[in-house]
Amino acid sequence: MPKIIDGKAISAQIKEELKQKVSELKQNGVNICLAVIQVGDDPASSVYVGNKKKACAYIGIESLSYELPDSTTQEELLKLIEELNGRKNVNGILVQLPLPKHIDENAVIHAIDPKKDVDGFHPQNVGALCIGQKGFVSCTPAGIIQLLKRSGIEIAGKECVIIGRSNIVGKPMALLLLSENGTVTVTHSKTKDLKEITKRADILVVAIGKPKFITREYVKEGAVVIDVGIHRNENNKLCGDVDYDDVAPICSAITPVPGGVGPMTIAMLMYNCVESAV
Ligand code: NAD
Repeated sequence: MPKIIDGKAISAQIKEELKQKVSELKQNGVNICLAVIQVGDDPASSVYVGNKKKACAYIGIESLSYELPDSTTQEELLKLIEELNGRKNVNGILVQLPLPKHIDENAVIHAIDPKKDVDGFHPQNVGALCIGQKGFVSCTPAGIIQLLKRSGIEIAGKECVIIGRSNIVGKPMALLLLSENGTVTVTHSKTKDLKEITKRADILVVAIGKPKFITREYVKEGAVVIDVGIHRNENNKLCGDVDYDDVAPICSAITPVPGGVGPMTIAMLMYNCVESAV
């Protein structure tokens, strides 16, 4: 049977380490504060924002909450970001995505001071990742690297295949695996012979956004499979992009959904918040 990579336990461990660090920082007079902005009342976004604020409270990070109406204009949002950029007591700024259609997400991401961009979405941080310099890294792929490392899975020299090339998962994932000396291939919706490529993978990261898409025909025996997808099935149960029951028996290690990649995203957001203050 495969090793089940326990994202809940690993994220709990990271949060404990951060809690300790935050308490040491407090003793030295350093307080950390994250501003969380939500525009509109999308129920999924409200759950994510609530969980982020809970994690802050647990670790000892102050959070400022800005719950703005759906009718907020882009100008108003940019003005708030500008004000928060200028506030010395605010270390991180997080704007929950997606935003209402009348607001240009790129303009908002560009407006956040890169030194406060704890989501790691600003082009300056993405560029730093590209050339191996220090900066904030997108939380989900950073969490996947922690899952691999803390599970004792070697990346250097391994064939790493990523399915998906989004700005928040696939692309930064490729750069991070490359910086860990993996041999990286990125596949996407226009890739021909997907199975041929994914079957080469020692480490397969699946971020395709389609429930249970990846079955064992896509996976090499003994591969490590990381499932980024989150979906609710018809019975309201969570599942991933990987058909877990079909794939798990042939892998060496796999992340479950829930309890795999999901909890790591918030843990790494907290990591970035702490980094913003040191
Ligand atoms: P996205 O929709 O932005 O990107 C999906 C990618 O899959 C695209 O690059 C597309 O080219 C590729 N793709 C689509 N169909 C394909 C096919 N048939 N063959 C090969 N590639 C194909 O999605 P995303 O934002 O990267 O998210 C992916 C999944 O991960 C979603 O289910 C999302 O909910 C989940 N997610 C989870 C977390 C977490 O914290 N666990 C964080 C972000 C995203």
